[in-house]
Amino acid sequence: MAAIDRAYSRLSKKLKNKTVRKFPLSRKTTLRVGGPAEIFVVVDSLEELRLTMQTVQDFGLKFFVIGRGSNLLVSDSGFNGIVIELGAGFRKIHTDGLYIQAGAATLLPALVQLAWKEGLSGLTFAVGIPGSLGGALALNAGAYSKAIGDIVADVTLYTPDCELVACHRSDLVFRYRYSSLAGRGIILEAVIKLSEGSPKSIQAEMEKNFKKRKRTQPLQHPSAGSVFKNPSGLSAGKFIEEASCKGLRIGGAEVSSKHGNFIVNLGNASAQDVYDLLKLVQKKIFDEQGILLEPEITLIGEFKDR
Ligand code: FAD
Repeated sequence: MAAIDRAYSRLSKKLKNKTVRKFPLSRKTTLRVGGPAEIFVVVDSLEELRLTMQTVQDFGLKFFVIGRGSNLLVSDSGFNGIVIELGAGFRKIHTDGLYIQAGAATLLPALVQLAWKEGLSGLTFAVGIPGSLGGALALNAGAYSKAIGDIVADVTLYTPDCELVACHRSDLVFRYRYSSLAGRGIILEAVIKLSEGSPKSIQAEMEKNFKKRKRTQPLQHPSAGSVFKNPSGLSAGKFIEEASCKGLRIGGAEVSSKHGNFIVNLGNASAQDVYDLLKLVQKKIFDEQGILLEPEITLIGEFKDR
C-alpha cells in the first residue's frame, strides 16, 4: 500500500468526516481553479493537528496549510500530499482592552467588523481583503501603506516538528508582503494591538476603503487579488497597463481591464491558463522595461512552462 493510502487510512479512521480523499481544491480557492488534494483534512483542535502532523512525518508526506485560499494558484494536477485546513476550533476570538486574540482561521472581515464595533482603530486597511488571519500573517497582507505586521503583538506557531512556539513581535520581521513567519510552521493564533477610536470615524474609513476597492478592482469575477508584488516604489499595475496587457486572454483567464494587476477567471479558466497568462505578462514587462515582476500569489503544485 502506498504511503498516501496508509496515511489516508489512519486519518480517516481517527478524524472521521474530516478527512477527504482527492478533494478538489478549486472549491477552496477564490480563483476557483485547482486540482485535487490527495488528502484534505479539517482540524479543530491541537490534538487533531498533532495527529495530522504526526501522520505527515510518519509517512514522509508533503503538506501545506490552506487559509481562505485567496492568495493561491493551485495547479490543475493538484497537490500530492496533505492539505490542512484549520476549522471552527481555530476561529475563537477574545477581546481585552486594545488587544484582540484570535484563532488563525478567523476571517479578516470578521476581525474588521469586531474592531469597528468595539471602537478599536487600526484594521480598516483590511476592509475587503478576503483572507484568514493566518494567511494574512504568513504574507503580511496589507493595503494603503499599512499591513497586518504593523499591529501584531504575539503569534503562536505549531512547527513541523510538532512543537508549540510563542513568538513575540520583537522576534518577527515583517516587510512589504514578507513575513518571517512564512515557512516556519502553522500559525495557530495571534494577538493584535489596536488603538482607541470612535466607531463613527472607523466606519467612515471602512466605507472609504471599500468604495475605493469597488471602484478599482474587478470584484465580480473570481481572482486571487494582485498577481504581482509592486517593485520598490513603483506600481506593477501601471507597468501592466502601459504594456497594453489589460484585456489579454488565455483560455478562460483574463488580465482584468479594470485593474491590470488582477487576473480573473471568466468562468472556465484552468490553473494552467492563469499561469500561462501570468508568465506572458511577466515576459512582456521584462522585455519592455527590464523588470522581472515577482508573483505575489502563492503557486502550489506543478505547472508547464511553454
Ligand atoms: P491562503 O491563500 O489560503 O494561503 C496563502 C499562503 O499563506 C499559503 O502559503 C498558505 O500555506 C499560508 N497560510 C495560510 N494560513 C496559514 C496558517 N494558519 N499558518 C501558516 N501559513 C498559512 N492581499 C493583500 O495583501 N492586500 C490586498 O489588498 C488584497 N486584496 C485582495 C482582494 C481580493 C479580491 C482577493 C481575492 C485577494 C486579495 N488579497 C490581498 C490576497 C489575499 O486575500 C491575502 O494575501 C490573504 O492574506 C491571504 O490569506 P488566505 O487565508 O486566503 O491565505
